Amino acid sequence: MHFEPDKGMLRDKYGRVARDVRVSLTDRCNLRCAYCMPAEGLDWLPTEDTLTDEEVVRLVRIAVELLGVEEIRFTGGEPLLRRSLEDIVAECATLRTHKGTPPPMSITTNGLGLDKRAESLVEAGISRANISLDSLTRERYAQIARRDRLHDALRGIQAAADAGMSPIKINAVAMKGINEDEVADLLAFCLDHGYHLRFIEQMPLGPAHGWRRDQLLTQQDILDRLSQRFELTPSSEPRGAAPAELWNVAESADHPAGDVGVIASVTNPFCTACDRARLTADGQMRTCLFATTETDLRTPMRDGATDEELAQIWIGATWEKQAGHGMSRPDFRPPERTMSRIGG
Ligand code: SAM
Ligand code: SF4
Ligand code: SF4
Repeated sequence: MHFEPDKGMLRDKYGRVARDVRVSLTDRCNLRCAYCMPAEGLDWLPTEDTLTDEEVVRLVRIAVELLGVEEIRFTGGEPLLRRSLEDIVAECATLRTHKGTPPPMSITTNGLGLDKRAESLVEAGISRANISLDSLTRERYAQIARRDRLHDALRGIQAAADAGMSPIKINAVAMKGINEDEVADLLAFCLDHGYHLRFIEQMPLGPAHGWRRDQLLTQQDILDRLSQRFELTPSSEPRGAAPAELWNVAESADHPAGDVGVIASVTNPFCTACDRARLTADGQMRTCLFATTETDLRTPMRDGATDEELAQIWIGATWEKQAGHGMSRPDFRPPERTMSRIGG
């Protein structure tokens, strides 16, 4: 096989090319967000099934150097629970994409404990952060996340900004009857701090039976609420493969100008432009969040496969990537893995 990473080797039969890999470093988490995990938690992966640091770095190297991947995002579970996160990031920072530059690396985190690690993460090579924050009120945060940790999350966000991570994106899952009355307050908070807020429509990736379409707070519901307080105009920035549709927010006497995005995965999916692949903490490659099958890279790697052989398995599986999540189909079934085990 002749590898031409500049052309992108991770192509699917619909013509999409994966250039962005989401690497889950653990399935564990210190929160229990209701839309992601059952209250009692899950059985964590046995240690021997979890990829070692060397194995993670090897698969990222194959993705970047052989397969044309240009961007890496570390996620989980909660990636800050991986103690060696900085070591993994520092190793990946030595890689070079086909453009001759290190891959931009970001982290998706709930922010707990980030106050102690933001600087070391930036030093290791993390430049951007997506931090989850669904509420600004202590009781409601505790209700959604099932842990009373709002204060720690806010400290983590501030620390990421102080350490120079940029942009700071704030992810908020918008939920009917839960935090819908707070969407405008969340935006005001983000505008005041220069953060980029991204609302996410809730997807059926949490505990079984925890999602109902008629309970969904849709992109339109979110925009209707925001428009009561903010002047929004659709952004003219090309969207590319970005999952969020963006609006510019005009300056007012109460707040500076900024932007806001909505990731309308349910009502306005962006699957036709999807450029993502996912690697789970136990070494399974997933072509789609909603895939019901996955490709084991860990077993062949531990059985002695060469880099080229692993790359070939990855290429073959990517070709079969499904067209989209298929949520509107009557036979739709969510994947067995919940979001925390997939890596969002
Ligand atoms: N623990 C980290 C965090 O919360 O940012 C990283 C992993 S978490 C699975 C990644 C993202 O997925 C978070 O922004 C979270 O809000 C989002 N998420 C989890 N379950 C979801 C669901 N059912 N629908 C939509 N987004 C979800
Ligand atoms: Fe943990 Fe993130 Fe899932 Fe919340 S969304 S339970 S913080 S993995
Ligand atoms: Fe990509 Fe699958 Fe998400 Fe669609 S549902 S954007 S194909 S990962």
